[in-house]
Amino acid sequence: MRVLVTGGAGYIGSVVVEKLLEDNHFVVAYDNLIKGHKAAVAAGATLVEAELSDKAGLTAALREHRVEAVIHMAADSLVGESVTAPAKYYRNNVVAGLALLDAMRECEVNRLVFSSTAAVYGEPEKQPIEERDVLQPTNPYGESKLAFEKALRWYDQAYNLRYATLRYFNAAGATETHGESHDPETHLIPLVLQAAAGRREFVEIYGTDYPTRDGTCVRDYIHVGDLARAHILALGKVDGGSRIYNLGCGGDGYTVREVIEVARQVTGRDVPVRESKRRAGDPAVLVASSARIKEELGWSPVQGDLREIIGSAWSWMQRHENGYEE
Ligand code: UDP
Repeated sequence: MRVLVTGGAGYIGSVVVEKLLEDNHFVVAYDNLIKGHKAAVAAGATLVEAELSDKAGLTAALREHRVEAVIHMAADSLVGESVTAPAKYYRNNVVAGLALLDAMRECEVNRLVFSSTAAVYGEPEKQPIEERDVLQPTNPYGESKLAFEKALRWYDQAYNLRYATLRYFNAAGATETHGESHDPETHLIPLVLQAAAGRREFVEIYGTDYPTRDGTCVRDYIHVGDLARAHILALGKVDGGSRIYNLGCGGDGYTVREVIEVARQVTGRDVPVRESKRRAGDPAVLVASSARIKEELGWSPVQGDLREIIGSAWSWMQRHENGYEE
């Protein structure tokens, strides 16, 4: 298929591009390169450097490359930032996203895979979380993603847009060629590994008074390669009807302290920590039930072990000391 990936130069987007190319799809990576990296776009893909809000630019790219499907991953995605800058989240995740949907309508592209998030559930009433559970985000990031999810439902009904919404839990790890490189870095696993590498003094633990087994937040970490494969499976089935899927490894998840301990074991290094207060907007526990995607798409994680996830991130980081610095 001929696929346009918005955010294709970002952390997860670059891995989705890599996997699409491996499966012999034609790929256009559409990215403004503000947070994405040119060097993260695999050589076989065509890079279009433009804004998501630029409907004319989107329409031109869809037409010129005769695009048949879109994977929409361009977004702002930091819970903490969203609480202090909600306007940015509504503008980029909702308003700019609608420019994409309208460009797709104009060009009669009616297949979409959308990157959503576990943050749409807010503080869930039970674990593991199922797709039909209550949607009550506790931060503007989750709200903005949920607003877009809801728009998709009505675009489907009125304009025959077929979509698969994938609600990611915590993407982590690296492939041989693509890994995580944010500036500033805010995600737990890369920060822990930077501390292990001696590139930062310590890692902060945001909150030790949560109602969890050791007082720190529980998250469901999923290898970025497993996540990327799910997009391709979802794309293959999207003509059959619109669906929403959770994407995580399930089980008991891992606390922040457990992640740090596994990182100590994997790297053989010390990880200095400092306990601090809670980060705004963080739910205590987010663990996925991935039963639906397992059953309907036959997806299951092949790199679900946290040691393997952290090990892959560690080896990528050692090979790319400065990330994708160009
Ligand atoms: N976290 C932490 N210290 C950090 C960064 C994150 O304790 O320096 C915690 C954060 O509160 C959350 C978990 O680690 O419970 C994962 O956070 P991350 O930002 O990696 O992903 P998110 O869950 O926000 O998508």
